[in-house]
Amino acid sequence: MFPLFGKEGLGEIYLTQIIAFALDIIIWYLIFMKAKCPICKKETEWEGNEFRPFCSERCKLIDLGKWASEEYRIAGKKDEEDKKKEEE
Ligand SMILES: [Zn+2]
Repeated sequence: MFPLFGKEGLGEIYLTQIIAFALDIIIWYLIFMKAKCPICKKETEWEGNEFRPFCSERCKLIDLGKWASEEYRIAGKKDEEDKKKEEE
């Protein structure tokens, strides 16, 4: 028998169609989804937004500042540990 008309063959076609359909929904969702700015939680446009996932340059800079201060803290800890070692 022709494999496509077998029970398994039909099942595979059906599964691929479901996956393709699911992917379509995901793609449409991503295109029309309103993302939320991680800083101010305001809804942001993804289309044509150069600061995404942030709503504006301000929120992007706030986030950058957060990272910078976090790195500074870690660097500070390292310095303290080095000093301790020198003292011993
Ligand atoms: Zn924002």
